[in-house]
Amino acid sequence: MIVDLRSDTVTRPSAAMRRAMAEAEVGDDVFGDDPTVNRLQARAAEMLGFEQALLFPSGTQSNLAALMSHCGRGDEYLVGQEAHSYRFEAGGGAVLGSIQPQPLAHRPDGTLDLAEVEAAIKPDDPHFARTRLLALENTLGGKALPRCYFDHALELARRRNLSTHLDGARLFNAAVKLGVAARDLCRGFDTVSVCLSKGLGAPAGTLLLASRELISKARRARKILGGAMRQAGVLAAAGLYALEHNVERLAQDHANAERLAAGLRDAGYEVEGPHTNMVFVKSRAGLAEHLRKNGIEVLPGARLRLVTHLDVDAAGIERALDAFRRFGNLS
Ligand SMILES: *Cc1c(COP(=O)(O)O)cnc(C)c1O
Repeated sequence: MIVDLRSDTVTRPSAAMRRAMAEAEVGDDVFGDDPTVNRLQARAAEMLGFEQALLFPSGTQSNLAALMSHCGRGDEYLVGQEAHSYRFEAGGGAVLGSIQPQPLAHRPDGTLDLAEVEAAIKPDDPHFARTRLLALENTLGGKALPRCYFDHALELARRRNLSTHLDGARLFNAAVKLGVAARDLCRGFDTVSVCLSKGLGAPAGTLLLASRELISKARRARKILGGAMRQAGVLAAAGLYALEHNVERLAQDHANAERLAAGLRDAGYEVEGPHTNMVFVKSRAGLAEHLRKNGIEVLPGARLRLVTHLDVDAAGIERALDAFRRFGNLS
């Protein structure tokens, strides 16, 4: 058995999740009559404290639909340099939304300097794009950012008339790590995006949470982007199963990441983290190949990001540590 630490997106639907998918009652969701999609959206909205939710095929599309719901052509959003929606989504806001990003550097703890955020808001002047939106992320690079940071950021956004979006692809990792309810981390945001396809173990799907009015804009954007699906209840059933069974257990992934980080440090590696389910380790020439030969999958790079998830158990962590130790002894 391969121990795959490339990402928590590699999780495969369990037998019980597949059963729920096979048995899902479905309809045509473009007509709004897929009962399982409707159930998932209602459940998520209730759970996270929003009027409505909307199911997307991916987090990239959910983020982009949110940007397009807040911003029009020639508008601008403020976003962290390392934020997924800025860095890892192929510039979709600019390509498809005609929205200009204004990226800002993160501090080492993953937060933005709110004085810098405020200074980046453009004056009302035809020289400038119109600053409309502040987009934040939690977790960011695995770091669970605390509620008090968001309180200050949301206060600034309100005072300066900016809309707010939270990319909470791994929102539940943050909530479990901080020991708070996920809805408490969402409070005050206009839109929140939450992935079902990462640590929660569903094969696909992301939920966007918002008011009725913003969801109706996001539904239009989803249609434009080609994300309106038909019998999507098959996927929604996986999402419902994930929300029911795979949230609390994220604590196990965090514990495995702690074990992995401690073991790597003991073996002499330079380690950052763990941050929730992620551990970062400085690589050495030949390490990724050595790991692969020993059944441990990692994404190669100067700094390896190792991600724990529900398809890696404690024994898998020990096997990974063994492989790292053997390489340490060779070099
Ligand atoms: C994975 C991820 C996304 C995008 O999700 P996809 O479903 O892969 O498109 C968005 N934001 C963050 C923070 C992510 O980690």
